[in-house]
Amino acid sequence: MKNFLEVNNLNVAFPTEDGLVRATNEVSFSVARGETLAVVGESGSGKSVSSLAVMGLHNRKTAQITGSAILNLESGPVDVISADEEVVRRMRGKEMAMIFQDPMSALHPYYSIGDQLSEAWRLYNEGSKADGIKRATEMLDLVGIPNAAKRVTEFPHQFSGGMRQRVMIAMALINNPSLLIADEPTTALDVTVQAQILKLIRDLQIEFNMAVILITHDLGVVAEVADRVNVMYAGRIVEQAKIDDAFYSPDHPYTIGLLQSIPRVGKQQRLHAIPGQPPSLINLPEGCSFRARCEYSNQVSGNLCATKMPALQEKIAGHLSRCHLEESQLKKAREAVK
Ligand code: SF4
Repeated sequence: MKNFLEVNNLNVAFPTEDGLVRATNEVSFSVARGETLAVVGESGSGKSVSSLAVMGLHNRKTAQITGSAILNLESGPVDVISADEEVVRRMRGKEMAMIFQDPMSALHPYYSIGDQLSEAWRLYNEGSKADGIKRATEMLDLVGIPNAAKRVTEFPHQFSGGMRQRVMIAMALINNPSLLIADEPTTALDVTVQAQILKLIRDLQIEFNMAVILITHDLGVVAEVADRVNVMYAGRIVEQAKIDDAFYSPDHPYTIGLLQSIPRVGKQQRLHAIPGQPPSLINLPEGCSFRARCEYSNQVSGNLCATKMPALQEKIAGHLSRCHLEESQLKKAREAVK
């Protein structure tokens, strides 16, 4: 499977009055068409910042961005980070699209749903407004909005939260993008609607053969829909693995902590919360960024966790992690999630 997106050594930093915020550091990953990559982490872990960089949505005058994010288009590769901003603007909505947590903020309250979808389609397609409305109606139908021909004339406030998120998915997919980035798309929705929206994204991914990046803080969501996962902490990827490997053989104490916090059906357990807070991205500590919260750091000899940032190492094919623990120590640590 050829990768549609290849991100290499992406660093995004923002100068502030208090100092340079290093939002992502040395982030590298890829995603192929037909594949769903989940990106998991707490607020401030860098998961949204790296995706916004892939979409070319950071202000280049204020953000300091290095590295590359290459889209392998049919016409040839384009690096979003170094390409002309106009080129990137034209690719957005056509080759790559994004849906956000709060659809209300992305929809204009004064225009009908049909007008907004139609305009998104006409940006990249020759056609009359009537053609655009026809396409909008087809898309509403595709994303499971009943009575689409009528609803296309309605306004955002006439839709429920779940239906608005379906509209946003229709808007994102109206020009058949090859890459869809969904940033916490179900967080604002109740559990039943969450499941429906995740299934919808999955079904549409298969239909359109898209590469999907799903950003979430919820490992439960990851288990349902993703093929692979990047676990991010303090701006870095700390573990990268296929879903089964991440769930059944996690290689990083942070992933283990996240897994311990998921309720399991049929198992009596006390849910675990990882103590403490992530470090400031302005003053990252020396050594491992997770050390202050890690219950295993004392098992690593030579004070290594405090002095040396572990490298992201591939221990088995496709499974990378950033931790100084030996395999025998990790084996014991994994017992916590059995
Ligand atoms: Fe914990 Fe040390 Fe591994 Fe960091 S390197 S996760 S502090 S054991």
